[in-house]
Formats: sequence, structure tokens, C-alpha cells
Amino acid sequence: MMKPVLIVGAGPVGMTLACELARYGISVRIVDKAAQRTDKSKALVLWSRTLELLDRGGGSAPFIEAGFKALAVNIIAGDKLIGRVGMENVESPYPFGLMIPQSETERLLEERLAKLGISIERQVEVTTFRNSDDGVEVVLRRADGSEETVSASWLAGCDGAHSVVRHTLGATFDGETMNSDWMLADVHMRGYPCPDTEASVYWHKDGAFVIFPISPGRYRILADLPASGADHPPAPTLAEVQAIIDRRGPPGMVAFDPIWLASFKINGRKVSSYRWGRVFLAGDAAHVHSPAGGQGMNTGMQDAFNLAWKLALVVKGVCGEQLLDSYSPERSGVGDEVLKSAGRLTVVATMKNPVAQSVRNLVGHVVFGFSPVQHVFTEQMTEIGIGYPHSPLNGSALSGTGPKPGARVTPTAGEVPVGSGDTPLFALFAEKSTATADLLAKFSGLLDPDVRPALHEGGFWLVRPDGYVACSAKDAATIAQYLDGLLKA
Ligand SMILES: Cc1cc2nc3c(=O)[nH]c(=O)nc-3n(C[C@H](O)[C@H](O)[C@H](O)COP(=O)(O)OP(=O)(O)OC[C@H]3O[C@@H](n4cnc5c(N)ncnc54)[C@H](O)[C@@H]3O)c2cc1C
Repeated sequence: MMKPVLIVGAGPVGMTLACELARYGISVRIVDKAAQRTDKSKALVLWSRTLELLDRGGGSAPFIEAGFKALAVNIIAGDKLIGRVGMENVESPYPFGLMIPQSETERLLEERLAKLGISIERQVEVTTFRNSDDGVEVVLRRADGSEETVSASWLAGCDGAHSVVRHTLGATFDGETMNSDWMLADVHMRGYPCPDTEASVYWHKDGAFVIFPISPGRYRILADLPASGADHPPAPTLAEVQAIIDRRGPPGMVAFDPIWLASFKINGRKVSSYRWGRVFLAGDAAHVHSPAGGQGMNTGMQDAFNLAWKLALVVKGVCGEQLLDSYSPERSGVGDEVLKSAGRLTVVATMKNPVAQSVRNLVGHVVFGFSPVQHVFTEQMTEIGIGYPHSPLNGSALSGTGPKPGARVTPTAGEVPVGSGDTPLFALFAEKSTATADLLAKFSGLLDPDVRPALHEGGFWLVRPDGYVACSAKDAATIAQYLDGLLKA
């Protein structure tokens, strides 16, 4: 019998990976040392690209039903609006940030997993493992202290920032910890002067002050504070939160009925490789960064989407293992970008030098008024701008117009997304012809039988199960050659 893929950690990333593999018919086990999933709101937003990818495996509707659409971010300094970044022009069926507490995202993922017949093995901790050419021997420890060694075909470390999988591999987590403390408060509040569908970033002279709507009347407040020197700074009291609101926020806001008060430090760290033989790292186990831009969980879930279809095709024996060589370069590249952009946003928001603050406010006003900048900013924030232009998986590119290899193909609202269903299939975008029929017949295990309209005149576009262009060509023979190269020898 085929050994299962073992997923360590049932946070949002581990559950996303388990859902994707399970719907593709791969045998998975998912274990978590915790007795239950988090009840904390932690990551608050699902961005457009994550919703598009969730759509492929059971629909994003339950998430949208449980969430709340944020349509814009305001950047404010003093009583001046520096800029307003609206999401109405985001080219996605989901032109908004979906505000939804992480506890809810995890609840919905666990429900999706249960529908696929997978239950999370809780209070089961991975303590160590041995990685070999043909499998991974993993030691599991249960709550009663008993231990068991199990065999897995592949191991996915989705075990968070303090990952045992990463430690066992000996992978270094290079980067730094910022020299400041951050306050987080999920509170009820009255007096927020903006519409509840808009977030606000205040560039105050003392530092950053950010308000995210969670649901009408409920908000997340974030602010940076001088470093206390403690590794784990104490959580603020409601009175301390109110004092920051009074000092840095607009007048008249009153916080009450706190739901979660916490303090944290910002780390920007990443591993150099996401694949170590038969072991993968994904999510916080592979990268952690500033919460600016709300990208942490989204980036992690997209690691899982990227890995799942490749691993499924390899486990099914359709494709050779070289397909997996693209996981780390593709996702590590995205991790680097997110680390850089979240770091930049944090530095800009937390400037303390008054001269630098004046320059920032002046430049910010000009820059955020410029629509191409707004476009770049929203593409980055919503993660629809992510692509893999340098991926080793990219094949030939048709010259002229039309998306290039590595580019995301914008899904059309109401259409079945590429990569849906119970087999990871590539989609062919082309005119229907004998040549397309021949391709479909030859690669029936790899190509979706529904040919979609060409992305531009006179060409064939092959699109991966995660919705990125693999290659494009004038002739079907080039597409066939590309697909032949993926098949297991
Ligand atoms: C205070 C706070 C605020 C945050 N705010 C934001 C935000 O606004 N936006 C954003 O995008 N992100 C935010 N994050 C980060 C976000 O929560 C993470 O990026 C996200 O949870 C990562 O998911 P994950 O599945 O990779 O890891 P985790 O959610 O950490 O899940 C890892 C799981 O692995 C389990 N585990 C660990 N070790 C083992 C083991 N040895 N054996 C078995 N199981 C194990 C753990 O119990 C856990 O369930 C915030 C985090 C914190 C703490």
C-alpha cells in the first residue's frame, strides 16, 4: 500500500495542503500537537489571490459568507489624508480584502477537510524524523507520552514559526528581529471616523497606528511601541490601548469589550530552501515577516496551493520528481519579495526622525495620488501580482501579446477555475482544432478535456493547475513536447 503524505501542523497552511491533496485523491495524514485549533483572530484577511485559489477546491463562498469585505485603505498623517488605496479596480472576481478572523478561516478549512473524509490527529506531536531517498521515518508522540514511528512517502512541515521540522533539517532561519514592541488589540470601538469597510494607517510622529475593521463595530488596532527589552512583552491593558488611541488616533474613538489583547515582536526570517529531499517546508515554518500588508498567512496558504498539485502528480506517478524542483525557487522567490515589501511598509510607517517624516508625508501624498503606483500597490497587497517569471517550469513563450510563462491567468467569475475537480489537470487555452483534439487524446491524464478560448489570437497557452501559464506556442507540437517533458520517464 502507498505510504501517506504526512503533514505536520494543522494551522491554515497544513489544512490547506491537506484539503488540496485529499481532493486530488492522495492519501494524507495530518497531525497537530495542539488539542484544538486556535480561537485567536491572528491573521485577519484573506486576499483576492487566496480566494481565487480556494475557489478551485470547494468554492470560496463559505469564507465570503463568514467574512466582511474591506474595500480600501486610507493613509493618514495628522489630519491630512496622504492617500486612499481602493480595491475596486483589482482585476479579480474578488476585488476586496476579506476580513475574517484566522479562527474562522481554520474552522472552515477543518470543515472542508472533514467533508473530504480527513480528520486531524490532535495531540500528536512530531518529535523527529529521518529523511531518506525513498521515504521519511517519523516519530510521533501522543499526549500520554507514548511514541510511534510511522513511514511517510513525503513530509510537509507546516508546523509554524518554531518548526521542529525545520530544526530537525538543520535549516537556518536567517533574518532579524525588529527592535520594537508591537501592541495588538481586537476590540469593540465607537467613533471610527471612516466607513467600516475601510482600514486606516495613521503615520503618527510617535510611530505607526493601524485600524482594521473586523466586522461592523469590531476592530483590530496595531501600534509600535518603544522596545521594552523583554523577549515576550506583556499584553497591554484596555486602558493602555485607549491611551494609544487617544494619542495617535483621531479624536472621539472609544474602545471597549476587548476580545484579544496581545504584544509581539516582529521577525523577518526565511529559510534558503523549501525542499530538502522528501521533506518540504511551508508557511511560517519557512518564512515569517512583519504583519504589514497582512501577507503572512496568505503567502503560507499559497505555498500549499503551489506544492499540492505538483506533489499530487508525482505521488500519482503521472509526473517525474523533477516537477517538485520548482516548488522552492518559485515560493522562496515570493517569500523574499514579501519579506522585502512588508519590511519596507513597516519602516515607512515607523519612522521617528521628524525630517524623514516630513519627506515621507510629502512624497507619500504625491506617490499615492498616482494611479500606476496605486495599481502596483493593490496588485502586491491582494497577491494577484504574484507570478513566476523565472520558474524552472516555464516553457517556451509566444512573442507578442498574451500572458507570458509564469503569469497568472485572471479567472473569470462564474467559470469553473483551472485546477478544480479531483485530478490536477493543466488547461489548454486555444482554438478548437484537430491539433487540440490530438493533444487531449495523447495527454488525457494531464490535460483538462474542456478546451478554453485562446488567450490571444493564433496560439496555444498551457495553464498549470494553479492558474499560471506554463508555456505558450504557435503550434501544438511545442505544447506536446513540454508535456512530454513532465511525464514520468
Ligand atoms: C499575534 C499575531 C498576529 C498576527 N497577525 C497576522 C495578520 O494580521 N496577518 C497575517 O497574514 N498573519 C498574521 N499573523 C501570522 C499568522 O497567524 C501566521 O502567518 C499563520 O498562522 C501561519 O500559518 P501556519 O499554518 O504556517 O502556522 P501556524 O498557524 O503557526 O500553525 C502551525 C501548527 O503546527 C502545530 N505544531 C507545531 N509544532 C508541531 C509539532 N512538532 N508536531 C505537530 N504539530 C505541531 C501547531 O500546534 C499549530 O497548530 C499573526 C500571528 C500572530 C501570533
